[in-house]
Amino acid sequence: MTTMTLSDTRRLLAAEPMGTLPRLSPDTLLALADDAGLTGRGGAGFPTAIKVRAVTQGRRAPVVVGNAMEGEPLSYKDAVLLTRVPYLVVDGLAIVARALGAHEAVLAVGPEIDPTAAIEAARTRGVQVAHLEGGFVAGQESALVNQLDGRPAIPGDPLVRVTTRGVYGRPTLVLNAETLAQLGLIARHGVAWFREAGLPEDPGTSLFSISGSVEHAGVVEAPRGSLLGDVLASAGPVHPVAVLVGGFHGAWVPATAPATRLTAHDLKPYGAAVGAGVLHVLGHDTCPIRMAAGIAGYLAEESAAQCGPCINGLPRMADALERLADRVPDPGLPSEIDRMRLLVTGRGACAHPDGTARMVASTMRVFADHVSRHLAGHCEIEGGRR
Ligand code: SF4
Repeated sequence: MTTMTLSDTRRLLAAEPMGTLPRLSPDTLLALADDAGLTGRGGAGFPTAIKVRAVTQGRRAPVVVGNAMEGEPLSYKDAVLLTRVPYLVVDGLAIVARALGAHEAVLAVGPEIDPTAAIEAARTRGVQVAHLEGGFVAGQESALVNQLDGRPAIPGDPLVRVTTRGVYGRPTLVLNAETLAQLGLIARHGVAWFREAGLPEDPGTSLFSISGSVEHAGVVEAPRGSLLGDVLASAGPVHPVAVLVGGFHGAWVPATAPATRLTAHDLKPYGAAVGAGVLHVLGHDTCPIRMAAGIAGYLAEESAAQCGPCINGLPRMADALERLADRVPDPGLPSEIDRMRLLVTGRGACAHPDGTARMVASTMRVFADHVSRHLAGHCEIEGGRR
């Protein structure tokens, strides 16, 4: 996987190993995360300081977990971090764990990532490395806690927060690998340095995984709030039909969209979010309905199959989308897809059905012309009816 950068924004990917780790008090750690305006880089974009504060409330020493599970098939940034600058993630985790007086610090590494460099970096930092089983939902916080506790890697009770009761029943802080790397750099260089990049309301840089119809797929580091077009240009000249922003649970931003910044504000009209920084470029040679059907089918199979929406709803939604991709002449398919989308949304124990429904709804909206042609038995990319 190649790495790229926008102008002089390479911070994470050019960081050198650190010597002695700074020793922070819990209050200093909290103040750094808060003043920096650091948000989680794993998907939800939650303010890091709020998560840290949540585990300082209880009496028991917390467990701190670095999340490098990378269950999203279109994301490569955890792999790049752990092979290029593993010490950055490990040191960020060690700094947080020491500041919080943690019972244990664990770096959870997904099966697709070689943990060798991380194990070497962790040797002298008091960090355990757990090379775990994967799957799309295995990286969700409660699924990760379950697996670390020896249970199946499926999401747990949404009413029990892992910050209250997590690994070994202790308060558990789960931070994404990139978030930890950023936090480690903030501890090293300070808040002002961190805020030099990005936007005042959304500072710092982020890693973006670029894939699809591009010359150079890879991971690029760019300031928060960069223009989508500028970030994509780092992967070579691209002429997209649309970009799937946010991965398999994300949404499409059409190429016709005016200069779109990778911000919550600019992406909101498309139902998208920066999330874990996944940008997948759809070229003119790929049928978007076929692609979405493939993703929906994958997501239906990747559920933990313990809630109604995932057992019944997602397979039916994926099947209807597959029939639409196959140009089955059934005018009821769009309303069936919409019915399933509404039925599964907000009904699961985790956000998996909602994320799947979001991607499907975006497909039906952005590619409405393709939907019409498919219903008429034609696809400009795949040809006539199968
Ligand atoms: S909603 Fe789906 S993925 Fe989430 S816990 Fe329930 S069955 Fe598992």
